[in-house]
Amino acid sequence: MIIAVDGPTASGKGTLAKALAAHFGLPLMDTGMLYRAVGRQVQLNSGDPDDAAEALAGCEFADALLEDPILRSEEIGGLASRVSIHPAVRAALNKRQVDFANQPGGALLDGRDIGTVIAPNADVKLFVTAPAGVRARRRHSEMLSHGMNVNFTDILADIEARDIRDSTRADAPLKPAEDALLLDTGDLTIGAAVQAAIALVEARLRKG
Ligand code: C5P
Repeated sequence: MIIAVDGPTASGKGTLAKALAAHFGLPLMDTGMLYRAVGRQVQLNSGDPDDAAEALAGCEFADALLEDPILRSEEIGGLASRVSIHPAVRAALNKRQVDFANQPGGALLDGRDIGTVIAPNADVKLFVTAPAGVRARRRHSEMLSHGMNVNFTDILADIEARDIRDSTRADAPLKPAEDALLLDTGDLTIGAAVQAAIALVEARLRKG
């Protein structure tokens, strides 16, 4: 069984993907980490994330980089969003994701284009959303709890810029697959969102 979980930044998709993978016993790939590793590698190379060739050179990262906590920073998230625009970067990361999705026993992947490009054959596609203001509030409290001194208005502006870049790019834009199930987590606690996601997936599986 393949489960695809897509959605914008801070929608809760990462948390839901982890919970669903544990519930259904599936291996999980957070595909945003691949784009983040490319963004970080371009930075290490002193390259320009907006230049297609320099962004592509960033795809030659060592796997150990995927474990680096710096990848989770907002700065690297912004770089990831910029390198992910280039079709050559997306193509370079494609096989790794498609192979993961189609491994024996199934898999769960979360990202932006899993249901549309990487695993259009997925058994269940979930598209997780929440209003930008709610997502910015979540990201803001998460960063404050990690002792980072950040401004809410800057975070909201970053999130909105990233949404626009992700959903307007020509190659694999962020959008729900036609057969995706939509889940708005804006008014839900984490526990309620997890229960809702499990219920949606189970209902879709019962329908066959
Ligand atoms: O999900 P996360 O915030 O880690 O993703 C970082 C960036 O990587 C996103 O803003 C998006 O531009 C890009 N990305 C993508 N396709 C994916 C996963 C992430 O373009 N499947």
